[in-house]
Amino acid sequence: MISPKIDQKNIDRAKDLIDGAERVTIVCHTGPDGDAIGSSLAAAHVLTAIGKDAKVVVPDSFMANLHDLPGAKEIVDAAKYFDFAAKLLTETDLVLCLDFNEPRRTGRLAEVLTASTAPKILIDHHLDPDIEADVVISHPEMPATAYLLFRFLCRLELFNFIDKAAAECILAGMMTDTGNFAYNCNDPELYIVVAELVRKGADKEKLNNMLFNTFSAHCMRLNAYAILRKMELLPEVKGSLIVLSRDELNRFHYTRGDTEGLVNKPLAIPGVEFSVFMRQESDCIRVSMRSRGDFPVNILCSDYFGGGGHLNAAGGEFYGTLDDAVAHFKEKLSEIRKRFIG
Ligand code: MN
Repeated sequence: MISPKIDQKNIDRAKDLIDGAERVTIVCHTGPDGDAIGSSLAAAHVLTAIGKDAKVVVPDSFMANLHDLPGAKEIVDAAKYFDFAAKLLTETDLVLCLDFNEPRRTGRLAEVLTASTAPKILIDHHLDPDIEADVVISHPEMPATAYLLFRFLCRLELFNFIDKAAAECILAGMMTDTGNFAYNCNDPELYIVVAELVRKGADKEKLNNMLFNTFSAHCMRLNAYAILRKMELLPEVKGSLIVLSRDELNRFHYTRGDTEGLVNKPLAIPGVEFSVFMRQESDCIRVSMRSRGDFPVNILCSDYFGGGGHLNAAGGEFYGTLDDAVAHFKEKLSEIRKRFIG
């Protein structure tokens, strides 16, 4: 048995909403990762199993390696089918918001989501949820939304409706957000849940290869290049910075997900406590940060890059040139040293 965690009031309210719904639309954040896709698909599998018409919509495309998760082919990508995605969010009996804490995290779907009058249930593990939902199940202490979703489903007495497909999707989410149980992974109950998911048929070895050990040759070369040529150590702040321009990404035929995990790499170096990765996208500079221990990259991201996230994993954006983004960050180094380095 695992501890209950989720407030009974929220379970009761969510149960009423689900019982009263025929159509359920599930939505997650932009650039959906294994946790966003895994928890969305798992919810869809279980809701379908109990007779609901459940659909998953995503704001934009997701990494190719996630396309093999059961049900991924049915996902409606709003980047390709915006009107259909908007219709699903509007003409529905219930919206399930998974793995994000505010509407703007759904990118092009934010306005539709906010305008939709359908009741909403939020299930998420990011800090400071700011979304008008009828039920807000927010547990920032949980390592993955998929893990929180498993607990939620159990509390709704839907454990028996978690089939092999749903189990695999939940495990994929848990593995993604813990880096294959490498961080945020000291909650013993995680492993009780893993045991249940494996018992239901989830193939952890297959997921391991799918999520962590499948790279194109271009992707491998891009990551090697980034470490060899672009990793700058910042010993004065115990930090590291990797910056990749659009030209560099294009040279290695970058596709979404190719730099997933790159930001974690410098943390392997003794003395590096936080790592920053900036990637030039078509409309902005995407900033990701990771850290060890109590170095709060969520504060760095929110104070300097209009973003946020978790203590050890956060992200933000910069609007301007790549050089300006780097200069903006470097201007803050002495401040960062004063604030966070003892
Ligand atoms: Mn997540």
